[in-house]
Amino acid sequence: MIVTSNNLHPHLREIEKSFSPSPLSPINDPLLHAHGIELWLKRDDLLHPIISGNKWRKLKYSLNDALNLGKDTIISMGGAHSNHLHALAYTGKLLNLKTHGIIRGEQPAHITATLKDLQDWDMRLTYISRTEYRHLRQYHGHQDLPNIKPNEYWLPEGGATPLALKGVAELVTEIDIPYDILCAPCGTGTTLAGMINAAPAEKSVIGFAALKNAHFLNDDVTNLLPSTHFNWKINHNYHFGGFAKTTPELMRFIKKFADSTGIILEPVYTGKMLFALYDLITNNTFKPGLRIIAIHTGGLQGLRGFNE
Ligand SMILES: *Cc1c(COP(=O)(O)O)cnc(C)c1O
Repeated sequence: MIVTSNNLHPHLREIEKSFSPSPLSPINDPLLHAHGIELWLKRDDLLHPIISGNKWRKLKYSLNDALNLGKDTIISMGGAHSNHLHALAYTGKLLNLKTHGIIRGEQPAHITATLKDLQDWDMRLTYISRTEYRHLRQYHGHQDLPNIKPNEYWLPEGGATPLALKGVAELVTEIDIPYDILCAPCGTGTTLAGMINAAPAEKSVIGFAALKNAHFLNDDVTNLLPSTHFNWKINHNYHFGGFAKTTPELMRFIKKFADSTGIILEPVYTGKMLFALYDLITNNTFKPGLRIIAIHTGGLQGLRGFNE
């Protein structure tokens, strides 16, 4: 089932026609059977060939807001491999919106595949120091950025806005089988917040932090939620050394997973989450009989950064 919403700007409704459903795939693995656990993947990676799964979910209603307010430019921030800026630049191009990406760090000597795409899709790029970049994280509202013009709309890092939760809720509503636990990888925690907000109170929601020492995520998620929920937690034990850091063990897991299921994972988010789930299942963390649904959040364009 694809949930279509009314009051969506006609341009957004038009581009949404090019999206595919995000199916639920059961994972068949002897390890899962041995522990009595069912694991399903919600395939948001299949939503669109270019616009990464959860990034579309998060962008949809913010872009709708910008269009309804008559804005013509979206400004946002991200790293040199950012899935968020990648989805924004492409969607902006489709919607005839100008986009401006503020990039963390020096302009690299060799342009990354992601930055090349951003340029090709006419995103204006500005490089700023890591200190200045961190400073921008304090601006949350769409007019909060200093010196922002009336035609411009500010989107915080990762598209972390209350409106993002509404798009993520659609992913939860699409799930049409019973389940016990929902899982997602966490960068800013916005996707997780959207799932917590939309999931029935009797389900558990677990996030897996992709960053090291990311305990601030618990507050960030709480702050994004319009009401208090008690059915969620974030696991901080599977960051593999930090954001975008990998280990040979993680890379072997991802390769093995692809060989046995045909499903490609990237090592920044979904690879770490599934490694974690397999590890927790091996250690009997989950009661037999549970059905877990994990979100494949996409992000496969970022894989190119690992080959550069
Ligand atoms: C950005 C991203 C995430 C993290 O989403 P948040 O809402 O920032 O927590 C997870 N997976 C992929 C593939 C992403 O690109």
